[in-house]
Order: sequence, then C-alpha cells, then structure tokens
Amino acid sequence: MLRASDISPISLARGLAAKRRNALTAVIFGGFLDALLLEAYSFQWAGFLAGVLLGLLYANAFEYFFHRFLLHPPGKILAHYHMVHHST
Ligand SMILES: [Zn+2]
Repeated sequence: MLRASDISPISLARGLAAKRRNALTAVIFGGFLDALLLEAYSFQWAGFLAGVLLGLLYANAFEYFFHRFLLHPPGKILAHYHMVHHST
C-alpha cells in the first residue's frame, strides 16, 4: 500500500497543480453555464435545489457506473491503465 510519505515532493506538487487547474476549469465552465441558464430562465429556489440534487445524483451515478463497468473489470486495458492512476 502506498503511503503519503512514499510520494515525492515533485509528484505531490504536480498533482496539486493539476487539482488546482481542474478546480479552476470547473468553476469557469460551471459559471459560464450558470450565466447562460440565468439568462434563459428566471431564478427560482425550487429549480436551483432540484438542479443541485439532480447534479449530485448524476455525478455520483456516472462516477459509479463508469468505474464499475469500464475502469475496474479485471483484464481490460482500461482497467490496467486505471490501476496506474490509483497507485499514484
Ligand atoms: Zn477507480
């Protein structure tokens, strides 16, 4: 099992930088989509809350099924490369 102390500072810094870029990209594109939807529809709390709940449900279901059926079946090429992702 890989421990946090086994990760080199360079790899750790590279990973943190990638996470920062991913978060910034999500904020920019999410904000852009948000601005488009606010322009097209008037804001209503019920719609906002339904959107948050549906978004959470969709994201978690996508993550689960993507992992379960594409990335983790033993012997598949995607699973092989995905295990590299899990080990780093
Ligand atoms: Zn995985």
